[in-house]
Amino acid sequence: MGTAYAIANQKGGVGKTTTAINLAACVAEAGYDVLLVDIDPQCNATVGLGLAKDARATVYDALVGSVTLEEVVLPTMIEHLWVAPAGPDLAGATVELPRVAGSEGTLRRALEPIRARFAFILLDCPPSLGPLTVNALVAADRVIVPVQAEYFALEGLAGLLDTLALIQRELNPRLTVAGMLLTMHDGRTRLAQDVEREVRTHFPELVFDTVIPRNVRIGEAPSFGRPVTHHDPHCAGADAYFALAKEVAARG
Ligand code: ADP
Ligand code: MG
Repeated sequence: MGTAYAIANQKGGVGKTTTAINLAACVAEAGYDVLLVDIDPQCNATVGLGLAKDARATVYDALVGSVTLEEVVLPTMIEHLWVAPAGPDLAGATVELPRVAGSEGTLRRALEPIRARFAFILLDCPPSLGPLTVNALVAADRVIVPVQAEYFALEGLAGLLDTLALIQRELNPRLTVAGMLLTMHDGRTRLAQDVEREVRTHFPELVFDTVIPRNVRIGEAPSFGRPVTHHDPHCAGADAYFALAKEVAARG
């Protein structure tokens, strides 16, 4: 049975999608079957893996029940890595989902029939704590929280943890935090070092040892429609995501 990880933080631009794409690619490279479910109407994970944002069937269609999620899943250029593409129409789901009782479990129910096919399922969330992210957190076993190593990094994290605790209590008792991940860390700056120290002090058990450096190759890889591990497999960014994949696997 595949373990499902939601990659969530209500802040935008903190490295959720980058982490979803590159962690998925690293696990696939290790030979495990991985499914990346893109639930952000911006479709960045879909496009970053080289797929178009106008797929014939998208996660939206699976959420409203007009197709099964299995019919949505597409192969990528990377062996062992599949994607359930988002479409811009997912924005509508934010309004439509809450109208239906029990809609928090829609994604979880859609995933159920295909969970066993994958060792690892990653859910790339939009930058909000709205219905789509709630659906991801109800479907997930674990959450990975990317935290950008910048000023204001801590802001919102306490609120996010409260939301996670609420979802765990009311909707998904299995949910645990896999870890917080420092991203876009520029080790040459005092600021990044200070933010890292502060986050580790506040959440000593939760922060991954692996830190993702700010790295040009990571930033440019999506414009080629591929993960950094394929764009430049030996750069510091690729090394960091391989290390993260090992750490995530070790934490179970
Ligand atoms: P989110 O999904 O949280 O909104 P993204 O993963 O899309 O954030 O990242 C925001 C921007 O920062 C993107 O343009 C991405 O390519 C870039 N980026 C993310 N991580 C890094 C990194 N480690 N080094 C350089 N650029 C990065
Ligand atoms: Mg994103």
